[in-house]
Amino acid sequence: MTAIGVGAHEAGHIVEDWLIKKFNSVHTEYRATPRRLTYEAYQNAILNPEGKGKSFKKLQEEIAIYETHNPSECLSSAISDYVTNANNAVILSKAIWQRIKEELSKMLLPNEVKLAKFSIEEYEKYGVFDNEGWIVGVKENAPAEFKEAYEWDKKKNAERWKLGID
Ligand SMILES: [Zn+2]
Repeated sequence: MTAIGVGAHEAGHIVEDWLIKKFNSVHTEYRATPRRLTYEAYQNAILNPEGKGKSFKKLQEEIAIYETHNPSECLSSAISDYVTNANNAVILSKAIWQRIKEELSKMLLPNEVKLAKFSIEEYEKYGVFDNEGWIVGVKENAPAEFKEAYEWDKKKNAERWKLGID
């Protein structure tokens, strides 16, 4: 394996930890999150001619023969395979990469930050700020749309804090 491949594998474990946090599970729960994500990716992979008719075990072995029974290693090796080989990666690696991307992008959608659509002037006019300049409330005279956007962002931020994403 190349140095980039090894680095991508280890970075894959960091992504995995992040996903485990997101789904509120822990490593000791039989690696529930990587197990589920790799299996969901498998279900997509068998829709592709390259994966059609193959077992989950067989497709995992195409990634790395030693890591078949460990979903954490399967997920990280799939990332390594994709980073190293891009579209020449095996079908399950591509499906796992796609599945992870879906999960990551769901948490990072720009439209989750609704206050951003207001101008700086509106933001300063209607917002209530603390000493450090963080918005901590909304003025009475703020338009309903601004109040809703503030509440939405506050809720989303609270969810991120709970998940340990900052
Ligand atoms: Zn590993």
